[in-house]
Amino acid sequence: METQLDLLTKECVSYTKNGNVADYIPELSKADPGMLGAYMIAEDGSEFFSGDYMQPFTIQSIVKTILLLQALIDNGVEAVSEKVGMEATGKPFDAINVTEQKLDSRHLNPMVNMGAILMCTLIAGNTYEERFSRVLELTRILSGNPTIDIERKVYLSEKTYGSKNRALAYLLKANGMLADDVEEVLDCYFQACSISVTCKDLANIGVVLANRGRRPGGDEFIVPEEYARYVNATLITCGMYDGSGEFALRVGVPAKSGVGGGIMAIAPARMGIGIFSPALDEKGNSVAGIQLLEKISRQFKLSIF
Ligand code: GLN
Repeated sequence: METQLDLLTKECVSYTKNGNVADYIPELSKADPGMLGAYMIAEDGSEFFSGDYMQPFTIQSIVKTILLLQALIDNGVEAVSEKVGMEATGKPFDAINVTEQKLDSRHLNPMVNMGAILMCTLIAGNTYEERFSRVLELTRILSGNPTIDIERKVYLSEKTYGSKNRALAYLLKANGMLADDVEEVLDCYFQACSISVTCKDLANIGVVLANRGRRPGGDEFIVPEEYARYVNATLITCGMYDGSGEFALRVGVPAKSGVGGGIMAIAPARMGIGIFSPALDEKGNSVAGIQLLEKISRQFKLSIF
């Protein structure tokens, strides 16, 4: 299987030329656009990897899955569903407003920025620093990697150039949906986006979600089954933003992308996959990453459809 993955990865490297590295966060523009790596962890615990799988990168929007999980753990499904909706927005990740009408919670989705920023306010903790520490701890537990930490340069770059996210947060405040200090909330969000991971970390988190909350071979639930199911369902409709429909056709598994070039794919009851390739399409999704996932999905018959 490993040689097959190697082969598929080599076939997809040329697609990196069809995308561009994110530059709206200046620190991200330093990534090498030609990179492509993959890591697969199957339900039986077997692992396969290829290409630039060892390269660390920032988790970016993939952390939205962890923000949602932590919010669910701290508040339960009902309280979270009161604050954010679950319908696909069909809009870009940083959409100003997903509705023509007055903004209300049903118009937010935890997989787009506004909803994810709001998730930070639901996480338990006396300070936003404490809330972020809990998100980091959950990331370490899910990935089984206690050394995971933030990439400070990216964090500072996001904080400095985060006008759009500030606008989104103030819009929430203007609509009476965010009571706390905007800068404190955003600091938690920016730090969360700047967590540094590898393909293996994403594959480990993905396989726990694929197993509805359990590590391969383990009986213990790291996160409650119901919350894993909640996250997976949200990902199928909105995990790839306004590219989610096409992704469902081409790949057909719940997945979350980030502008750092990562994609975490969850093949239910089969495997977790971590992909890294920083050249992005106009929707902010990794071009070669999607191409490789499409081939992996066909090869291993992963589509749930
Ligand atoms: N930190 C980025 C932002 O909020 C994450 C966006 C993304 O990965 N799509 O702008």
